[in-house]
Amino acid sequence: MQNPIKSTNRRVVIVGGGLAALRCTEELRRGGHDGRIAIVTAEPHLPYDRPPLSKDVLLGKKELGDVLYRDDAFYREHQVDMYLSRRATGLRIREREVLTNGSAIAFDDLLICTGASPRPFPLKSDLEGIYTLGRVEDALRLRAALQNGAPRVVILGAGFIGAEVASAARSLGLETTIVNLAATPLERAVGPEMGGMLSALHADHGARLLCSVSIEEIFGQGRVEELLLTNGERIPCDILVIGIGSAPNIGWLEGSGLELANGIVCDATLSAGPPGIYAAGDVAWWPNGLFGRGMRCEQWTNAAEQGRHVARNMLAGHEGRTPFVGSNYFWSDQYGHRIQFAGSEVADEVKIVKGAFENRRFLAYYRKGDQLCGALALNEPKALMLAKQQIETGTRWDLALEAMGHGVPWSAATT
Ligand SMILES: Cc1cc2nc3c(=O)[nH]c(=O)nc-3n(C[C@H](O)[C@H](O)[C@H](O)COP(=O)(O)OP(=O)(O)OC[C@H]3O[C@@H](n4cnc5c(N)ncnc54)[C@H](O)[C@@H]3O)c2cc1C
Repeated sequence: MQNPIKSTNRRVVIVGGGLAALRCTEELRRGGHDGRIAIVTAEPHLPYDRPPLSKDVLLGKKELGDVLYRDDAFYREHQVDMYLSRRATGLRIREREVLTNGSAIAFDDLLICTGASPRPFPLKSDLEGIYTLGRVEDALRLRAALQNGAPRVVILGAGFIGAEVASAARSLGLETTIVNLAATPLERAVGPEMGGMLSALHADHGARLLCSVSIEEIFGQGRVEELLLTNGERIPCDILVIGIGSAPNIGWLEGSGLELANGIVCDATLSAGPPGIYAAGDVAWWPNGLFGRGMRCEQWTNAAEQGRHVARNMLAGHEGRTPFVGSNYFWSDQYGHRIQFAGSEVADEVKIVKGAFENRRFLAYYRKGDQLCGALALNEPKALMLAKQQIETGTRWDLALEAMGHGVPWSAATT
C-alpha cells in the first residue's frame, strides 16, 4: 500500500506548467507536504493565465508579465524546483522517472497536466498570415498582425476562442468573417438552441458568420490573400485564424503503459492507474459522477479544481483517495458580454427562466429527465452561480424552477 505523502517526504513531480500544476503545488504545501516538488514545463515561462490571451492580451491591454500567476519568489518560497523549457518525452512507470529533453527526473508521486494544443488546420499551407492561439507567443504574434492594419480577418471555427478573436478583431475595427463547419456555433459547449441564439452577438457587432461551410483552398503569394470556401464563395483574407478545438498533449506518453484515448484515461479519483500517478486539467479524461459519463474539460475552473483535488489525493495516499466531481463550469467574454455555462448541454428541454435574449441578458435552464442538468447565462453572473450550486447538489427540475420563479420556453423569448 502506498503511504500518504505528507509523512514520508516523498518527491512530487508535476509535468506541465499551467494552472493545474500551480493549484496542485499550492494545495500540497497548504496540506503540509514538506517533501520536494518539481514542475517540469516545456515553456520558457513561469505558469501563466491563458484566458486573457484571447481577450486583453490580443487587445494590447495586458502583457506576459500581467498574466503570470506568481513570480519567481513564490516558487522559491514554496521550495519548488522549476524546470523551464524542459519537455517531457517519456515516462518509465516501473523506474518511476520522467524522461525529458534534459536528464531523467525521478518521482515518488506524479501529476501529469500537460494541457491541450490547438488542432492544426488539416489543409497544409506554407503561406504567412495563418495563426492558432494556445500560448502567449501565439497571442503576441496574432496581436502584432491585427494591429498591423491588415484589415480582413477570417476565423475558422465559431467556438469560444474563435468568437473571442472575432470580438477582438471587431473592436480593432477590422473586417471580420467567421467560417464555421457546424450548422450552429458553440453547439458542443452549450447545445444547438442556445448556440444559435448566441450567434446573433456576432451580427450585433458587425462580424459576418457563415455556417455549414469550411475552407477548400487557401491562395496567396508568400502570404494568405484569398480563401475558396466549400460552397464555392471566394473571400479576401489577410489574417486567417484557425480555432477548431484542441487536442490533449499526450503524444509523449505513447508506449508508457498509461491508457490513452481522448486524453489520459483516469478513474473517478483522477488516478491514471499506477499508484501515485495522476492527471488533471485539459489533458485528463475521467468518469464524472455528477453527469454519469466520462469527459475531458478544457476549462479554467476544472483545471484549478482538479489540480487541487489531486494534491489532496496525494496527501491522502492511494487507498485514501476520493472521487472528483466537477460541474463543467466556464465563461467567455465576447463583445463586452459575459457568457457563462455550468453543467451538461445534453438536455431534453431548454428554457429561459430569467430575463430575455432581446435584452442581451438572460438565464436559461437545461432539463434532463426530471433534473436540472445545466444552465447558461448571458450577463447574469449571480443567477448563474446559484444555478451552478443547484446543479452540483442534483436539484430536481420543478424545484429549480420554483426557486427561480416560472420561466418561459426559450423559443418564445428569442427575437
Ligand atoms: C486562448 C485561450 C483562452 C481561454 N479562455 C478561457 C475562458 O475564457 N474560460 C475558461 O474557462 N477557459 C478558458 N481557456 C481554457 C483554460 O485556460 C485551460 O482550460 C487551462 O489553462 C488548462 O490548464 P492546464 O493546467 O490543464 O493546462 P495548460 O494551462 O494548457 O498548461 C499545460 C502546460 O503543459 C506544458 N506541456 C505540454 N506538453 C508538455 C511536455 N511534454 N512536457 C512538459 N510540459 C508540457 C504546456 O506547454 C503548458 O505550459 C482558454 C484557453 C486558451 C488557450
